[in-house]
Amino acid sequence: MQEQVIKLGISACLAGEKVRFDTGHKRSNFCMDELGKYVEYQRFCPEVAVGLPIPRPTIRQVRVGDTIKVCRPDGTGDVGPKLTEYGKKIAMEQASTLSGFIFCAKSPSCGMERIKIYNEAGTGNTSEGVGFFAEQIMAHNPLLPCEENGRLNDMHLRENFVMRIYTFKNWQLLTEQPITVHRLTQFHAKYKYLLMAHNYQAYKDLGNLLGTYDGDDYEALADKYILGLMTALKKPASRKNNSNTLMHLQGYFKKVLSKVEKKELRDAIDEYREGIVPLYVPLTLVKHHLKVHPNEYLELQVYFNPYPNDLKLRFGI
Ligand code: SF4
Repeated sequence: MQEQVIKLGISACLAGEKVRFDTGHKRSNFCMDELGKYVEYQRFCPEVAVGLPIPRPTIRQVRVGDTIKVCRPDGTGDVGPKLTEYGKKIAMEQASTLSGFIFCAKSPSCGMERIKIYNEAGTGNTSEGVGFFAEQIMAHNPLLPCEENGRLNDMHLRENFVMRIYTFKNWQLLTEQPITVHRLTQFHAKYKYLLMAHNYQAYKDLGNLLGTYDGDDYEALADKYILGLMTALKKPASRKNNSNTLMHLQGYFKKVLSKVEKKELRDAIDEYREGIVPLYVPLTLVKHHLKVHPNEYLELQVYFNPYPNDLKLRFGI
């Protein structure tokens, strides 16, 4: 992969800033101590940015007729329009420099989903809201990988998110130079096995998209391609699909491995498929064989190193 500085947006309280209503923070150790070694964070506290003090009374989303306010429990101090305006400004002016965004869950400003919307009397709520700031960032940057701190505790979602931010960064680097079908095809070739592990049909469809294109609007083609790629990668790869991908990779070595080595690799893949060992076990074996028996095409595959190994993301899946 290319040398890269990855910039991520983050809710400031997750970065440890004491910006919450009660002067506290919600520092995420994973974001700051682990992922933070590899990325630069741009911190945003939308509530403070729109002028709310620290400390401040709590605010929440309240449905009033057809509109939703973001206000104090007594209905006063609606900052909804200001949060929307601020979110839109960041989304339009700064988000294009980012390769991902980590939002603080449950916040009426920063939460990505399932935010409580109270009725006017405050006697009940539904959980169908989206934080006003997060909503703008996501709506104006549909390709941007976004995740919430709580969901990042799930190892599959964590691995998937980090893989997507690195993929998106690779894409941003690619599109710094003029796009051609050839460059897109080369990019796509590197993603073959990663896509196979997530959605093989998408690999074939995107390959067809590039292979059959005979127009000259390469920007439009690139837009269509990256939308397909990011959508396909959003769903974490299943054990079954990863196992099938590993079996395909094993095929490259069938003529060069001894009987014992082949069995060892097959057993490792089976044990992974059955949930006995994590992905890094069979993958480490494949990588070892690749080192001993180099293969130019395989060495280009992002599947082997979609992000820094030190993050140990394949230990937990
Ligand atoms: S959740 Fe968002 S608005 Fe609330 S304190 Fe954290 S950064 Fe600020």
